[in-house]
Amino acid sequence: MNPSEVLHSHRLKSTSCREGIVEVMLQASRALSEAEIKTILGNRHDRTTFYRSFKTLIEKEVIHQIVIDKNEVRYALNLPGIHQHEHVHFHCSSCNQVFCVEPVSEATMTLPSGFDVSETEIMLKGKCNHCKS
Ligand SMILES: [Zn+2]
Ligand SMILES: [Zn+2]
Repeated sequence: MNPSEVLHSHRLKSTSCREGIVEVMLQASRALSEAEIKTILGNRHDRTTFYRSFKTLIEKEVIHQIVIDKNEVRYALNLPGIHQHEHVHFHCSSCNQVFCVEPVSEATMTLPSGFDVSETEIMLKGKCNHCKS
């Protein structure tokens, strides 16, 4: 998929800034922080355009947020059929990178009666293959 196909699959109009952000994220094999995305894009877009585009991509669920803790948030693309809403994340404690991991099956949990799940957030922690070797 190229950036304009990704935007199109989310029924979003292509703009050069939106495409730029999606392209950076397509090429990364891990989740990125907002600062990393901005650094890779350089000065191609002004701040306001960048923030507006970034916000739209989150609102339209082109990208999803991964909250590590209250000071650290990473972002990754939602690709149709690949990244469904309910997948898990892996946080490497050594290099501090976050990866999207495809779930094998839906986690089964028994909730107390009357409890309702609206979101699932599972963070696995450990060492990635790069840091292990
Ligand atoms: Zn690592
Ligand atoms: Zn993810």
